[in-house]
Amino acid sequence: MVMGDLKFCPKEGLSRWVEELSREHTVLVPQQAGDAVEFLPFAEGSELSLDRQPTAPPKKSVFPQTETLMRFEYQKDPEHPDRQTLQIKETLPGKEKTVILGCRPCGARGFSVFDPVFGQGEYLDPYYQARREHTVFVSLACRHPENTCFCNWVGGGPADSAGSDVLMLPAGGGYVLRPVTDQGRQIVEVGGFEDASPEQQTEADRLAEEAAENLSPAPELEEVPDKLFELFENLDFWELMAAKCISCGACTYLCPTCYCFNISDEYSGLQGKRIRTWDNCMSNLFTHEASGHNPRPTKAQRLRNRVGHKFSYYPKLHEQVFACCGCGRCIKSCPMSVDIREIVLSAKEYADE
Ligand code: SF4
Ligand code: SF4
Repeated sequence: MVMGDLKFCPKEGLSRWVEELSREHTVLVPQQAGDAVEFLPFAEGSELSLDRQPTAPPKKSVFPQTETLMRFEYQKDPEHPDRQTLQIKETLPGKEKTVILGCRPCGARGFSVFDPVFGQGEYLDPYYQARREHTVFVSLACRHPENTCFCNWVGGGPADSAGSDVLMLPAGGGYVLRPVTDQGRQIVEVGGFEDASPEQQTEADRLAEEAAENLSPAPELEEVPDKLFELFENLDFWELMAAKCISCGACTYLCPTCYCFNISDEYSGLQGKRIRTWDNCMSNLFTHEASGHNPRPTKAQRLRNRVGHKFSYYPKLHEQVFACCGCGRCIKSCPMSVDIREIVLSAKEYADE
């Protein structure tokens, strides 16, 4: 961190900063929408809702719920009516910059689970990459973690900066702005803020520490990937864990780190488009094959896949990183109170017995 990097944004200066940013970027900010808090484009008069965790994470800004991958059209050859040519037009996202301001640190960290799958290594997803490169995350450190939060179990924290470009730390009736990347530094410069004073910096650090202390202590999870693997064939365990589940899928749709998708073609006459849509591994249809066979016909097998993917298969492939940022949305939104923390801890204990 370079001296003078930390700036102070007074509370009343926040809307002005967002307004400035929205002149050249699409700025998505949490706003009240009915009972939910959603990331919506900032417009004149928009009110930011920063006091509670947004209902859904900012996932769809980089990985839309539905996106067109390409358009196609069959064209008949007038001289040879039995022949057709196929024109394909790729529909890559544009290069406009998007700023997501006011997500929680866990929301930004969620993309570090996507990156090794979509944006690095052998197989690159140009749609994901284009949006990811042009999106800047300004995260707001949490002051009051909820009782469903467990970011500290999976390497995060209320003031974690992984995945963020700027971290906003509440202090002194405003926010200390801590740029994390060069893109973040440029975004902060737009606000023309004064340097944060040493007192403001100290208060920001103190409040961040207090928030971290309010989380329940993190258990040791190092052995969990192996323990879950050992339990793979133990369907009694998984039936017990899935007993309450009604396969509604709320947990997957609201999860910042779930990335399964489906690809389908939609036609109208000779034209069509290929679309990608989010899928849901808790649904019976997720693995339903055209033959009628379903390798995961029971909810126990589906829950095993969901928890196993996040806490066993993914960390085994990706340097022991869990595919969960501990946001707690799956716990909060589950109509049947299924708690992924209890499943992970039960797996740890059950395998020991
Ligand atoms: S599994 Fe649950 S706690 Fe973990 S990132 Fe997904 S919604 Fe959040
Ligand atoms: S939200 Fe709860 S009930 Fe719905 S699929 Fe997920 S675990 Fe099952």
